Amino acid sequence: MIKEKDLIIKGALIVDGDGEIYKGKQVKISGDKIVEVGDQIPEKDEEVLYRPNCVITPGLVNLHCHSPMGLMRGLGEDLKIEDWFNQFIWRFETKLKPEDVKVGAFLGISEMLKNGVTAFADHYFFPQQIAEAAEEAGIRADIAPTIFGFGDKVEENIEEAAELIKSWNKKTGRITMQMGPHAPYTCPPEVLEKVSRRAEELGVGAHIHVSETAEQVKESIEQYGKTPFVILEETGLLKHPIIIGHGLWIGEHELDLIPDHAYFAACPKTYMKLAMGYGNLWDYFDRLPICIGTDGAASSNTLNPLEQARLFALIGKQMYGAERFSLQETWRVLMRGHKALGAKTGQIKPGYLADLVIWDLGAPSTWPVYNPLAALLFSADASHVRDVIVNGDFALKEKTLTKLNEEDILKAVRETVEKIDQRAEGERFAQY
Ligand SMILES: [Zn+2]
Repeated sequence: MIKEKDLIIKGALIVDGDGEIYKGKQVKISGDKIVEVGDQIPEKDEEVLYRPNCVITPGLVNLHCHSPMGLMRGLGEDLKIEDWFNQFIWRFETKLKPEDVKVGAFLGISEMLKNGVTAFADHYFFPQQIAEAAEEAGIRADIAPTIFGFGDKVEENIEEAAELIKSWNKKTGRITMQMGPHAPYTCPPEVLEKVSRRAEELGVGAHIHVSETAEQVKESIEQYGKTPFVILEETGLLKHPIIIGHGLWIGEHELDLIPDHAYFAACPKTYMKLAMGYGNLWDYFDRLPICIGTDGAASSNTLNPLEQARLFALIGKQMYGAERFSLQETWRVLMRGHKALGAKTGQIKPGYLADLVIWDLGAPSTWPVYNPLAALLFSADASHVRDVIVNGDFALKEKTLTKLNEEDILKAVRETVEKIDQRAEGERFAQY
């Protein structure tokens, strides 16, 4: 439901999607859109928000996550990636039921809204449950039903995904879906080809993990004689709009294969935690459309794109010098996810959908504000997110979720985790 009254926001600085800063402007929202940005907007019957010491920005986009994996936050710490996955994550995931995934999605979405996220791209199983949670929460989402390419049910899984994609995309609302082949190392080329053809028929794109580790690239060469991006190109997937989860180890010879509509979701906290190496994204920063994701909270512990953008810039500076990966460049990386998702969001200009965050920077950890971009990128956190507006409507107001009950969600998560632990019988997950 769109709010009944128009809204005027006064007293805040604007930091736009390209990092430009505007002072003394007011923003008017009517229906789902920004309709006016001006010095003194005449008032009639609008709701007026007065927000001194605040900054309005486009919402944050989390371009790659697995929102329900928050159920596994903090499991299997201090382990190598293989041990983390095999001993904990996969064992836990095999015990998940659709209703558990929905609880996990509510947890992830609540966390994201409180971090200023207005849109996220998800890649997981039980996508219907994630879509329902996102619809109820008032957030924008693009969901890719995960398809694994082995076993005798592959065709069936592709068709199931296609049906779900059709039914959600015809609603033309906040929730969209696209194809989600898991990765080139879990989907053989013939499966990727099928997915690509089906995406074309449906007129949608894809979201896929590519070249996360150096090991995956090595194994791809051993098995197919080709690197993962070459396989993507040959199977037709790069013809479609595509979200690349990671692409951390893209090789120089692969750069020319990457079209403008392939967006890379960098998740540096996961790379650092699981010691996946520096990879090549920082080397090719000027040549790739890099955006920000968080991956699942099982590996990154948070669903906070701002934190990931901060780490991205800090790693870049450490590698290449303090003058590089500037505030404005980093902000543009953080905001580029809007383009990747294709909705008319990401700018505070008339005609754009009103997906906005109001940050209260009048706090000891951010004050004084010489440079709003520095305050946001290097000091701010969820505690500064005061209001979140999606599609012209409040999803968070005065730091409180408007459509979800946080206490109920935390209680449901506790109960879900206990149930899964019981299913694990002799090998329980709980340590305390
Ligand atoms: Zn991932």
